[in-house]
Amino acid sequence: MSGEDTFLIVGAGLAGARLAEELRARDFPGRIVLFGTEEHLPYERPPLSKEYFAGKKQLREFTVHPGDWYRDHRVELRLGTTVTGIDAAAHTVTMPDGSTEHYDKLALATGSTPRTVPIPGADADGVHVLRTVEDSDAVLAAIQGETDHAGWLAVIGAGWIGMEIAANARGRGAGVVVAESAEQPLLGSLGAEMGAVFADLHRAHGVDLRTNTSVREIVAYDGRASGIRFGDGTVVPADAVLVAVGARPNVDLARDAGLAVEDGVLVDASLATSDPDIVAVGDIAAAEHPVLGTRVRVEHWANALNQPAVAAATMLGHEAVYDRLPYFFTDQYDLGMEYVGLAPHDARVVTRGDVHGLQFLAFWLDDERRVRAGMNVGIWDAGDDIRSLITSGRPVDLDALTDTAVPLSDVTP
Ligand SMILES: Cc1cc2nc3c(=O)[nH]c(=O)nc-3n(C[C@H](O)[C@H](O)[C@H](O)COP(=O)(O)OP(=O)(O)OC[C@H]3O[C@@H](n4cnc5c(N)ncnc54)[C@H](O)[C@@H]3O)c2cc1C
Repeated sequence: MSGEDTFLIVGAGLAGARLAEELRARDFPGRIVLFGTEEHLPYERPPLSKEYFAGKKQLREFTVHPGDWYRDHRVELRLGTTVTGIDAAAHTVTMPDGSTEHYDKLALATGSTPRTVPIPGADADGVHVLRTVEDSDAVLAAIQGETDHAGWLAVIGAGWIGMEIAANARGRGAGVVVAESAEQPLLGSLGAEMGAVFADLHRAHGVDLRTNTSVREIVAYDGRASGIRFGDGTVVPADAVLVAVGARPNVDLARDAGLAVEDGVLVDASLATSDPDIVAVGDIAAAEHPVLGTRVRVEHWANALNQPAVAAATMLGHEAVYDRLPYFFTDQYDLGMEYVGLAPHDARVVTRGDVHGLQFLAFWLDDERRVRAGMNVGIWDAGDDIRSLITSGRPVDLDALTDTAVPLSDVTP
């Protein structure tokens, strides 16, 4: 690579900013341009539903790098700029004004967009999604209102973002109703048994959590959301509605450029797309995983943090593979947890420790009794052991696994 080369990065979130950092850390001497739709310096999103929403952190505390860093590392930051097209044959990307920028290598880090719900009232004022700092501010303003009394928030969807906002809205004194169509919150990630742990936690903190239910309509008065109507006709009033029903990866640019795309942009373990001069990282990357032996696309902070080191090496022509296990975390009320691995849908879950007291480990096992994923709740020194169990690929002794007296290093006979 020479100082004449231009590397473009589309998407100025965590993954895009980290990629610029990793390229400079590997002494890439050429030009780096980072394009981002948002006007802010690249920032991390987890605090938007946690410490920032709770008023415990400021945006500057979770920007990826301060403004000076981009200048000092010669990274041209084009904020407020949405790339509208890629011509892979010509090696150019198109700017909003129709002009083009040449690249030698291109990285896509375009992240995800929240899904919406196709029901009447979904476009009313006071209906929110949560992806950006402005979204977080808007939900907060809506429940705080103009008085000192916090209002009511209706959350549609009991996934991670919905449950975190429910917890912090309660922390701010708001009334919260959560509507979920599945039998438990977080069902897709954790299954019914562990979902029930979170359901109990939220109900104990006064959340009106309604599962096995559907929201038929967002009730609006004068164009402004005033509540939600359930399938049985019941209306629950609310000052604001948060639609938190997941996100879809922003893959249109990649698809329109002719890259291989399914649920995400298909990349190999080196994070190269079907075009060897284009890599993809973060939420959009559906990567072949050498340890798990399957393609993995996750919307996790750790993925956006760590994949860029591999993508940078690949852009520079070095050998590298991304083989970290998927990892994510959540904080709700006093509960802190980490989850590592990828559980099959039919996995059996077993626990070790005090589930009721929220100090426990949970393991997801396949039908050969191998640990495929693990979660530590309120226990902070088990992460490495859980990872070792997953990567060992060996069956566990169930009695030993669930017995806190047996070290985790001794549970594979
Ligand atoms: C509220 C919230 C809480 C979360 N909490 C957790 C958590 O607790 N744990 C966890 O593991 N994960 C969490 N996540 C997920 C995590 O934040 C994401 O996985 C991570 O942000 C992905 O980073 P990314 O860089 O791939 O995408 P993003 O952060 O989405 O960044 C992509 C950027 O690209 C921009 N962009 C898109 N298209 C273009 C274009 N054509 N031109 C220019 N720019 C473009 C977008 O505007 C965006 O700024 C949370 C997410 C949210 C929203």
